[in-house]
Amino acid sequence: MTFKTTCCYCGVGCGILVDQDRQGRLTVKGDPEHPVNKGMLCSKGMNLHHTLIDQSDRLLYPEMRYARNLPKHRVTWNTALERTAAVFTTLIKKYGPDSVAFYASGQCLTEEYYVVNKLMKGFIGSNNLDTNSRLCMSSAVAAYKMSLGEDTVPVAYDDIELAECIFVAGANPAWCHPIIWRRVEAARLANPDLRIIVSDPRITQTATMADLHLQLNPGTDITLHHAIGRCLIENGDIDRSFIENHSEGFEEYRENVFARTVEEAAAICGLGTDEIREAAAMIGKARSFLTMWTMGLNQSSVGVQKNLSLINLNLVTGQIGKPGSGPFSLTGQPNAMGGREVGGLSNLLPAHRDLSNARHREYVEKFWGGGKIASTPGLTATEMFDALHDGRLKAIWIMCTNPLVSLPDARFAEEALRRAKFVVVQDISNKPQSLGFADVILPAAGWTEKTGTMTNAERRISLLEKVMEPPGEALPDSEIICRFAAKMGFEGFDYTSPAEIYREHAALTKGTNIDISAVDHELLREKRSVQWPYLRHLDGYGTARIFLDKKFSTPSAKAVIHSFPDHNKSETLTTEYPLVLTTGRIRDQWHTMSKTGKVSRLKQHVRDAFLEIHPDDAAERGILDNNIVEVTSRRGNVRVKAKLTHSIKKGVVFMPMHWGQVLNSDLNRANNLTNNLVDPISKEPDFKYSAVQICRF
Ligand code: SF4
Repeated sequence: MTFKTTCCYCGVGCGILVDQDRQGRLTVKGDPEHPVNKGMLCSKGMNLHHTLIDQSDRLLYPEMRYARNLPKHRVTWNTALERTAAVFTTLIKKYGPDSVAFYASGQCLTEEYYVVNKLMKGFIGSNNLDTNSRLCMSSAVAAYKMSLGEDTVPVAYDDIELAECIFVAGANPAWCHPIIWRRVEAARLANPDLRIIVSDPRITQTATMADLHLQLNPGTDITLHHAIGRCLIENGDIDRSFIENHSEGFEEYRENVFARTVEEAAAICGLGTDEIREAAAMIGKARSFLTMWTMGLNQSSVGVQKNLSLINLNLVTGQIGKPGSGPFSLTGQPNAMGGREVGGLSNLLPAHRDLSNARHREYVEKFWGGGKIASTPGLTATEMFDALHDGRLKAIWIMCTNPLVSLPDARFAEEALRRAKFVVVQDISNKPQSLGFADVILPAAGWTEKTGTMTNAERRISLLEKVMEPPGEALPDSEIICRFAAKMGFEGFDYTSPAEIYREHAALTKGTNIDISAVDHELLREKRSVQWPYLRHLDGYGTARIFLDKKFSTPSAKAVIHSFPDHNKSETLTTEYPLVLTTGRIRDQWHTMSKTGKVSRLKQHVRDAFLEIHPDDAAERGILDNNIVEVTSRRGNVRVKAKLTHSIKKGVVFMPMHWGQVLNSDLNRANNLTNNLVDPISKEPDFKYSAVQICRF
């Protein structure tokens, strides 16, 4: 028997066929009919069935303890949820609704996101619902809203084949979004004139394919983008008609980018002026121009401004709202976009409604039939852990995420959980370190064990079918949340299926810019996938491109070209901490490895954590290849093998973010070193710039 589903790893959203033979054995292959991957899968996707075959790490039944000094023991679902509801009720009565929080994940299905958001904002009465998408996408969300008036990715993957120039900024899609990159490679084979520019302090696999690799200093992206903007203006390669009729803010922008010469900018970025001018010439010559970016821009103390400075290049050249052109934020997680649809961040409301808008709040309150929605944003991911640490937040429910590996300054986060009055961890795996701090453990169903939807980076909604029963007593996350809501005494959570939850979510989008009120599970079964907004395309597959009419969602209907200085606000380098640490992903692992870490084939690529360092920096410290080095920052330390390579810029070191605790030691964990400095608007952490020192151990 064959089931159709979608890959649960990255935001590319590849279609997968799961085959189950008569003995129940599972295999996976790419779905040749899926418009995203056309049958292709990357190494992670093609090994997904191994994560299903090895169930040795699965949580099988609820566990609980009545006090921190007592061991956890197996309990029934009823006992676990009744106790949790009783603790939440007591805390809310004593300290108010903001004393509790849910920390969820961009890997939740849309239906799961929807019910937990509804429960927290509409019934408990706090906006303390945030997800790990805060660590990933929130800078792009804010920048899209500020420049285009709404959080929307205006392009589609099909634009890759239509672009004449692609600028990949701070991203390594060859490893992190492999199927997108294969489409770029195929596009270049079909069109040798396609020009590819990559900006990255490392020579990544993506960079090696570029016509022009801008190996800039970390934190200097805004300077680079401004300098390219200046060259475009000087060369006359801007679209005056678009600027005059469809944008605002150009005069301030011109003044802003002319404040620095190209020579000054090149010196700051560590580039040649010729490289900056060449990038501008490539962009200026192209009749269609796509910008792509991910964490190199997002995970920064100036992440929103980095995003805006890149989007500005699309705006001044008028390369938006037409085939092959536009700003394309590549989503990291598989359903970060679905989470944004339901309003699953602490500052959002469903269907891109505005939390600060009283009419929007009233509409949602009435629709849900619960209580008042608070007007103030809730705690964001890192703020939750700050608040646990200082006692403002008493209880946290962690759902489908592994914060003690993925949060910055992980030892601080550990201490925060130690200080919490009450911790609930809901997960599929017994691996997350947060389980050690849990008062209640709830076993969740995983990929293929439940039905629901996800939305990928190009706004494409796909249905993920249930293939098999979850092991033990594990339940789908949406069912756990709905059962808990009932224990809290709330009505409106008695759904009979995920399809019913989806219908309610879709109905709430009616009349908005992301209208999918005509979409339900049946339609997705029939069409395989559709792109939002959908209502206007009853006979098709939704909306591939947005803003074709050049009417943006701002009050003036014009796109806003923002101006700001190019200062980086990361921590300062000193003689004590003279090197910049940047963190990221490797090709064959996903996030904190709770799934991919189980697959021996995926470990063959890279087995252990490592530190990439330039040979000159290593020589200054007497470090040889494969020496164990101690890396220290103002927060903590790690000990890993040094990998000497010319592919990293001098003065910069790189460490993968996947590893956490191994054999009772946390010395593999990159986030011992990172800091919880965040962008002031998006509240996204500055993972890409930590001041460190290295010595031979
Ligand atoms: Fe899965 Fe992403 Fe690989 Fe596609 S590119 S198979 S979605 S991990």
